[in-house]
Amino acid sequence: MIYWLITPLVSKNVTRFAVGLMLFAVFQQDMATVKQYLENIDTPLSRQPLWLQAIQIILIGDFIGYWMHRAFHQGRLWAFHAIHHSSVSLDWLSSVRIHPVNDLLMRQPQVMVILAMGFSPIAIAGYAPFLALYAIMIHANLNWSYGKFGVLFASPVFHRWHHTAEDAGLNRNFAGLIPAYDMLFGTYYMPKGKLPEVFGARDAQVPDGFWGQMLYPFRKSAAKAPL
Ligand SMILES: [Zn+2]
Ligand SMILES: [Zn+2]
Repeated sequence: MIYWLITPLVSKNVTRFAVGLMLFAVFQQDMATVKQYLENIDTPLSRQPLWLQAIQIILIGDFIGYWMHRAFHQGRLWAFHAIHHSSVSLDWLSSVRIHPVNDLLMRQPQVMVILAMGFSPIAIAGYAPFLALYAIMIHANLNWSYGKFGVLFASPVFHRWHHTAEDAGLNRNFAGLIPAYDMLFGTYYMPKGKLPEVFGARDAQVPDGFWGQMLYPFRKSAAKAPL
């Protein structure tokens, strides 16, 4: 429950601040000028209808998210991401159990690339809340796999396999929205008629308490990769 306070109020603002700093570094202008520039952006992409931009943003954002997520399952980054995987009783509440460094490094590249490509900020503004709501849904303790549509959209079963501590689901189903990326890059896993049963961060000895979890990735003894 602490994460339901910290993630929206603290972590998301840390990420916003980091995006602001990056914009400041790129534009070398004060934020009011940057904001004005972005609000009046006029590029071939921003001139498209908003619904078309939304689809493109989701496709590009999820491609970046897929590879960032895979990076978080490697080396030192795993210690940050292990916090998210440490729920042994997985349900919708677990969706916001994310270390602030995990949130920052995951979201910043997505936002910066999409902004740099010249999409309309109005289309981008809807992307973050949409991702947050979708994340709550795919962590829910539901047996929904969407049938044939499960290859198009990430379902609760699809993401819950990503969280399993069982060998079969290890390093599978990294996509947040579009399972096609997992199919394309060989990490798709959806066994028929079977649901994941055991959840957790495997070898990572993640502490139970909030501050223990905040400090865990900085400890020398933190797990390096889930192998
Ligand atoms: Zn993961
Ligand atoms: Zn998750």
